[in-house]
Amino acid sequence: MLILGLESSCDETAAALVTGDRRVLAHRLAGQEEAHRPYGGVVPEIAARAHVEALEPLIEAALADSGVSLADIDAVAATAGPGLIGGVMVGLVTGKAIAHAVGKPLIAVNHLEGHALSPRLADPDLVFPYLLLLVSGGHCQLLLVEGVNRYRRLATTIDDAAGEAFDKTAKVLGLGFPGGPAVERAAQMGDPTAVPLPRPLFRSPEPHFSFAGLKAAVARIAGDYRPEDVAASFQAAVVDCLIDRTARAIDRAPGATALVVAGGVAANNAVRSALSSLADAHGLRFVAPPLWLCTDNAAMIAWAGAERFAAGLLDPLDTPARARWPLDPTAEAVRGAGV
Ligand code: ATP
Ligand code: MG
Ligand code: FE
Repeated sequence: MLILGLESSCDETAAALVTGDRRVLAHRLAGQEEAHRPYGGVVPEIAARAHVEALEPLIEAALADSGVSLADIDAVAATAGPGLIGGVMVGLVTGKAIAHAVGKPLIAVNHLEGHALSPRLADPDLVFPYLLLLVSGGHCQLLLVEGVNRYRRLATTIDDAAGEAFDKTAKVLGLGFPGGPAVERAAQMGDPTAVPLPRPLFRSPEPHFSFAGLKAAVARIAGDYRPEDVAASFQAAVVDCLIDRTARAIDRAPGATALVVAGGVAANNAVRSALSSLADAHGLRFVAPPLWLCTDNAAMIAWAGAERFAAGLLDPLDTPARARWPLDPTAEAVRGAGV
């Protein structure tokens, strides 16, 4: 089975070819950092236009890398949401056009499902159900992944995502955009105990997250300390919150075979090693995808497509693009955040 995957939900345009037996034949990616840098964040209209320009050449390049042709694919998997609607439409419409042209089915992939299943692309031994910390630029959730298309949300953020707090911290420290990797680099040269920072919702009974107060505290005190110390103290606070909240959720996921992390913030080494220790302490296996598979890419979309294809989950060509699309539609909004 061979799946073409397309991703365009935020500021990464990507195309990949992945097989049902976990071979990544090609994966191509074009970031838009330069286009957005002057604004210190992603500008939706600029992003959508950049996706239009980048996507077709990336698909051509991925096909050339892998030596296959469109006639060889079994299905086209495209991100159909959630994300910036203009960008999502670019990838989804392109996917529909290719599916129609080559007479193969379309698979409309939830970007979060791409992140959620990405650890299974890297690790064939990872079986359902597993406890997933999905921590990215727009989301911070704990999910029980029971199977393909079966996600039970145990917790979410009541305000900001952890990745957003990393990006904001980088911005106030003048470390540039995107922020996560820059904060992690600066933190290596700083003292994590130098700056007193809050740990919102620490030890609260429900495993939900909150990062708005931490983000605001960083903005308030940033000028009073060395940037490296702020970065290190901020990262330590995020790690403490993620570990405390995840520990709560472990108690609510008794059947889980592993503790798994995915999403852009999963690329952070302090986060990975703290979660690994937490898993050890609970006798759980720890699984984290390789760094390139944590941040947005199309291999995870192709792989989610492969998993859905194998489960017979195909989508009609009039499937709409969705700006919002919760993985667990039964989960209730938390303090109106609904994320
Ligand atoms: P979502 O997946 O929620 O729709 P997104 O697609 O924008 O959001 P991802 O690409 O999955 O997010 O992740 C990007 C986020 O990950 C950014 O906030 C970025 O700062 C953060 N990030 C990337 N690398 C690191 C790192 N090494 N340390 C901390 N954060 C990181
Ligand atoms: Mg990005
Ligand atoms: Fe993402």
